[in-house]
Amino acid sequence: MQRDVLIVGGGIGGLTAAIALRRQGFAVQIIERDPQWSVYGVGIIQQMNVVRAMRQLGVLDAYLSRAHGFDSTTIFVGPTGAKETSFETPRLAGPGYPSNAGIRRTDLQVVLGDAARAAGATIRLGVTVATMTDDGDGVDVRLSDGTEARFDCVVGADGIYSRTRAAILPDAPKPRYTGQWVWRYNLPLMPGLDGIHIFAGPCNAGLVPISDSLMYLFLVSQEPGNDFLPVEGAAAAMRARAQMPAPQLQPHLAAITEDAGVVARPIETVFLEHDPWHVGRVVLLGDAVHASSPHLAQGAGMAIEDALVLAEELARNAAPEAAFAAYRARRFDRVRHVVLNSLRIGDMQMGKIPPFDIGALTGQTIGMMAGPI
Ligand SMILES: Cc1cc2nc3c(=O)[nH]c(=O)nc-3n(C[C@H](O)[C@H](O)[C@H](O)COP(=O)(O)OP(=O)(O)OC[C@H]3O[C@@H](n4cnc5c(N)ncnc54)[C@H](O)[C@@H]3O)c2cc1C
Repeated sequence: MQRDVLIVGGGIGGLTAAIALRRQGFAVQIIERDPQWSVYGVGIIQQMNVVRAMRQLGVLDAYLSRAHGFDSTTIFVGPTGAKETSFETPRLAGPGYPSNAGIRRTDLQVVLGDAARAAGATIRLGVTVATMTDDGDGVDVRLSDGTEARFDCVVGADGIYSRTRAAILPDAPKPRYTGQWVWRYNLPLMPGLDGIHIFAGPCNAGLVPISDSLMYLFLVSQEPGNDFLPVEGAAAAMRARAQMPAPQLQPHLAAITEDAGVVARPIETVFLEHDPWHVGRVVLLGDAVHASSPHLAQGAGMAIEDALVLAEELARNAAPEAAFAAYRARRFDRVRHVVLNSLRIGDMQMGKIPPFDIGALTGQTIGMMAGPI
């Protein structure tokens, strides 16, 4: 018998869950609160485990046609800009595919949204959950547009401020501001940019290729609060955050001139480390259950892997609760590693904890992410 799944949230986690669940034969409806379904246009780093996941979802060629694939990461140190090290990561999707990719978030949404619809998922925009009643055999949901339906289970993929989480686990940890912001700006692709270039402290910046013609520059800064930044003056504010930048960053910083092109976001985090990830027939995935700071560039990767594992476990287990418990057990160690170590890097950058060996952590993370999910 076909089972009906409601996914709350049409972000990266919700869309990949829809594709994965459709491939396992579930009927899937996504509801997305934002009627415009807006995503900002800067890029996202997607590492080898995500490229592998895109192959598993059956979208790899469409995805790479809009992305910029690469194998290497190069680290430059301090204000001198001297090269410290360069390393390559394995090609997990096969020798004919790049290890990693950078892609504009808008392009990623198009690829995943098209694939979810082509797979047969329904996506309804401007709609959210009004009420949800789980009677043990199914979940009755009344939506904000007044329609009612019954589902076998509900997936809360509604992001760091998840209302699904608040509904099922009101005492779960709340998101907290970490003390840092990330500033991003799209620029023309630098000729010869062969992968990610990271400029370690004090600037904490990087260049990431995201298409054949674009890259983005990111900067991490320490800020007293997480208020929203006015658009006016944003370009100058971003340039001012680059403390003692390496010489090779200077021309790119000078090209940050359009206030509207700056995407600045406070880094917030939440992790249900000691709580369940489901109650009854309602389960959480992605940032709703483990929003990571971006220092290991794996937040979306963890949401995408969640989606694949959740779909596999729902297909394997007749009882949703058993599937959800198996899903959490399979995901916990990887997610915990990403969330806690990303926070450690941020804390070290802010001088809150003593310096530690980032190279060793990177090696450990690559080994873990290259392993099976
Ligand atoms: C500055 C920054 C940089 C990052 N860089 C990277 C990176 O390079 N690589 C990486 O892997 N990750 C990165 N991340 C993390 C990544 O963006 C998130 O982990 C990822 O977007 C999580 O996906 P999600 O689907 O769980 O949540 P979201 O992307 O937040 O999607 C949630 C969706 O649910 C919708 N929604 C919310 N509430 C409701 C509701 N009540 N009803 C219906 N819909 C609702 C929202 O509108 C949204 O569309 C970064 C994060 C930040 C903050």
